[in-house]
Amino acid sequence: MDKVKYLVVGAGMSGLAFANYVKSDDYLILERDTEIGGYCKTIKQDGFVWDYSGHFFHFKRPEIESYLVERMPKEEVQTITKSSKILYKDKLVDFPFQKNIHQLPQEEFIDCLHSLYFRDETPPTNFKEMVYSRFGAGIAEKFLVPYNEKLYACDLTSLDVNAMGRFFPFADIEDIIRNFREPDNHSYNATFTYPKGGAIQYVYALESEIKEGGISLGESLNSIDLKRKVAITNKREVAFEYLISSAPFDRLLQMTGLPHNADDYRANKVLVFNLGFDKKGWEGVHWVYFPERKYCFYRAGFYDNIFDTERMSLYIEIGYPSDKEVDVDGMLAQTLADLKTAGVVEDHNLVSHHTVTLDPAYVHITQTSLEGVNRYRDVLAARGVYTIGRYGGWTYCSIEDNIVEARELADLMNTLEGGAH
Ligand SMILES: Cc1cc2nc3c(=O)[nH]c(=O)nc-3n(C[C@H](O)[C@H](O)[C@H](O)COP(=O)(O)OP(=O)(O)OC[C@H]3O[C@@H](n4cnc5c(N)ncnc54)[C@H](O)[C@@H]3O)c2cc1C
Repeated sequence: MDKVKYLVVGAGMSGLAFANYVKSDDYLILERDTEIGGYCKTIKQDGFVWDYSGHFFHFKRPEIESYLVERMPKEEVQTITKSSKILYKDKLVDFPFQKNIHQLPQEEFIDCLHSLYFRDETPPTNFKEMVYSRFGAGIAEKFLVPYNEKLYACDLTSLDVNAMGRFFPFADIEDIIRNFREPDNHSYNATFTYPKGGAIQYVYALESEIKEGGISLGESLNSIDLKRKVAITNKREVAFEYLISSAPFDRLLQMTGLPHNADDYRANKVLVFNLGFDKKGWEGVHWVYFPERKYCFYRAGFYDNIFDTERMSLYIEIGYPSDKEVDVDGMLAQTLADLKTAGVVEDHNLVSHHTVTLDPAYVHITQTSLEGVNRYRDVLAARGVYTIGRYGGWTYCSIEDNIVEARELADLMNTLEGGAH
């Protein structure tokens, strides 16, 4: 039987980052796909550069950013000052909605301001109550509730108060009123970076440090014998000292046979259309939120305004419950019709397109999922199994967070093992 000290599951950003930071060459990365990158892949087609939906980067830790950039082609990365908008009743309003209610028609503005001031601040017990208690019914019902229902594709009362963590653009009443006169729409991603070759360039940066033969493509972990510390793949059995998984948490539990309730770990799935047209469209905006239910998508991004290119190049995101069947061709036709209604597509011709479904995409963070992840993490760690990444940790996080978490785990391993090669 093959033996390895660190068996890493997944060659996405988390798995690759772990292998970059662990001070040992005794590792093997299993990747069930035929390519590396996980959700951070890029498609180059007919002169368009598309990701698996827009993947933009806003590094808070300069050392992480420079670690990646040093391993990338020179002048690959562009820094862009974000311009994001909301299409609200045929008018573009600056994002975040709650700080820009003064841009709404007067009646709607008064409605939002009035309900913001007189909101019921009873401590919320779920995400939906949180948006009402923080922002009042006007802001909640015009944007935060319909938008997030389209994205998460679930009843928002089922989500934890902090389901979006730091990614939720909080603003208090003072920020909101100050913004009427002194616009400051900065959020966690006021500027972002994006490689000219797409998000995959960051993956290649991490791959450049992977030893020869360190990744086994097309090899899927199927089950784990926790007692024997043996992984069973579609190709062989591998004995491990430590197993570091970035597979979705619920699937890891299934693979270990640990008893759990599958319903505790729910997520949406996101159908992504990447669309290339024959000429330029809207300018000066990087992505637009669509809260209204008459549009099937919740967000559309404009790669051509990031790359400064001549042909409109869009990503479109549509949220679904994970168990819903999707008629992809039907949805493409619906998307094109809705883009026309929104005025994004006029007399453009679609010249190239690509589709991918991200499943899971946004996990439904609940008190039960949080407790389950914490409890099982300890049970698994006692057997040398660690679960990392956005889906391994069943959480909402960025790629930088994935790298930081992987580095912390590698540091722990380096300490435990004395950093021996
Ligand atoms: C719609 C959307 C937009 C996003 N936009 C951004 C953004 O703009 N900026 C940002 O920083 N982040 C963004 N993210 C988050 C980002 O995609 C993730 O944080 C990141 O890609 C997660 O990397 P990972 O390695 O943890 O997981 P993954 O990318 O899911 O990689 C896991 C890998 O494990 C493999 N695998 C799974 N199971 C097995 C198995 N049993 N055996 C072998 N291999 C297996 C998979 O094939 C995959 O390659 C976005 C996410 C979504 C859904």
